[in-house]
Amino acid sequence: MPSQPYYRTALWKQIKTAYLRRNPYCYCCGAQATIVHHENYTAHNLSGLDEEFLYPLCNRCHYIVHFNNGQKVKSLEVARRLRHRRHKHFLNKENKI
Ligand SMILES: [Zn+2]
Ligand SMILES: [Zn+2]
Repeated sequence: MPSQPYYRTALWKQIKTAYLRRNPYCYCCGAQATIVHHENYTAHNLSGLDEEFLYPLCNRCHYIVHFNNGQKVKSLEVARRLRHRRHKHFLNKENKI
């Protein structure tokens, strides 16, 4: 078993760097994104092959979607908040498909 958390591995760093280069803006507010949030942690998703469940976020918005009065919220609630807070930049992109 790997001794370090997945997000600190070289593979994840690679995926994150490449993903943020292509998606430089926060999904929620449009600011510079510094964090790639995972909506779910399936093996396929973590392999970097599937970006459907990745979201570029700034520090502030990442905190906002994950916490409620200092308490971590459930992943379903995180997903709901993300969709609700979606920035217009991403709305436009998604409508075009
Ligand atoms: Zn943001
Ligand atoms: Zn997250």
